Amino acid sequence: MTKIIKAVRGMNDTLPDEAYQWQFFEQTVQDWLAMYGYRNIRTPIVEQSDLFVRSIGEVTDIVEKEMYCFVDHLNNDNLALRPEGTASCVRAVIEHNLLYGGPQRLYYSGPMFRHERPQKGRYRQFHQVGVEALGFSGPDIDAELIIMCARLWQMLGITGLRLEIGTLGNAESRALHRARLIKYFQQHVDALDEEAGRRLHTNPLRILDSKNPQMQSIIEQAPRLIDDLDEESRLHFETVQQILRDRGVTFEINPRLVRGLDYYNRTVFEWITDKLGAQGAVCAGGRYDGLVEQVGGKPAPACGFAMGVERLLALMQECGKAIAQPAPDIYIVHQGVQATEYAWQAAEHLRDANCRVVLHCGGGSFKAQMKKADASGARYAMIIGDDEALARQVTLKSLREFTDQARVDLNTVCELIRA
Ligand code: ATP
Ligand code: MG
Repeated sequence: MTKIIKAVRGMNDTLPDEAYQWQFFEQTVQDWLAMYGYRNIRTPIVEQSDLFVRSIGEVTDIVEKEMYCFVDHLNNDNLALRPEGTASCVRAVIEHNLLYGGPQRLYYSGPMFRHERPQKGRYRQFHQVGVEALGFSGPDIDAELIIMCARLWQMLGITGLRLEIGTLGNAESRALHRARLIKYFQQHVDALDEEAGRRLHTNPLRILDSKNPQMQSIIEQAPRLIDDLDEESRLHFETVQQILRDRGVTFEINPRLVRGLDYYNRTVFEWITDKLGAQGAVCAGGRYDGLVEQVGGKPAPACGFAMGVERLLALMQECGKAIAQPAPDIYIVHQGVQATEYAWQAAEHLRDANCRVVLHCGGGSFKAQMKKADASGARYAMIIGDDEALARQVTLKSLREFTDQARVDLNTVCELIRA
């Protein structure tokens, strides 16, 4: 027997029963972003690997072990499937000189790829919507990005999300903090696990993110960046908080919030749910003032976030907001030469009036066609025999209520559907 070919592990099909929920989500997100003046940018799924190494950071989980890198053997280019969208967005903004026209409010959406262990809420192909504000330096834009999320949760019917915010300060305060961390962990080197030991000199901040229970107490007592903060960053963070309070957005300060990507500075934030088990972060972001220059552009401040679509859809389900595709309005059952000719005409006429119409295909007896009509979930079966066709009428039968079927013309059908 021929071997069955299956989808790649960790990469999912979205079947029609679920796909409508995705479409609803995408439409809602588009409407939401338009409300705030963000415009769509679309970049390729494949980029030069170097882009991600340089932006996300060489000593991060993503670049060290999660990135799908490959050599294009036709020309020996080192390429990668994008593991996230910010780097690509920044690359495109620089390449097309978009900041020349002033600050930009942008968003993207689409599949991202990370070679992680697949589990609920964690996939190798997953989807993000990312929102990026480039060329803005003030705390107002950080606050806008956070506040607009709160509206989206409302539009999606999601409740119970917790907002954590933190600050990573500027480059100098991070360097100071880094040195203090290394010193501190060196004093407790016996308590470090293998990974932390390896990270000690390359990326000590990541040790703070360790999930190892044996290390939690030493992590708890480690120096906090928030205590080493430079004055400007402290003020920036204060103002972000003040705007959030003024707008009634509640938050918790998490001094340990470190992000898995190296390009962040100052404000960082995460929206977290307790309803999805271990994979609780549904949306995360922050400021990345150094990235544009790092990727090769003229220095420009920026701030943004990305949300995980699979996790948000799962959360909508948990919140009882599962959305099913509306059934067709009408299923057309027809038999006879004139009847079929009239059925084709009637179907298009009704679609002109914005009705959702399924025309039976494949022939069969009236009875068999009526079964299909019922199974389609349609509200009405519209029955056309040669008699009806001759009179340019149809027989309409409700499939959902016990009412008598009636012989009517198409305009009456349109009015009924619209009502
Ligand atoms: P996590 O801590 O869960 O690994 P992360 O910090 O790696 O998340 P980001 O890189 O900030 O995540 O991406 C933003 C969002 O994208 C996350 O909050 C999450 O909702 C989603 N996400 C990240 N990785 C995955 C994945 N492998 N599968 C599904 N969703 C993901
Ligand atoms: Mg991750």
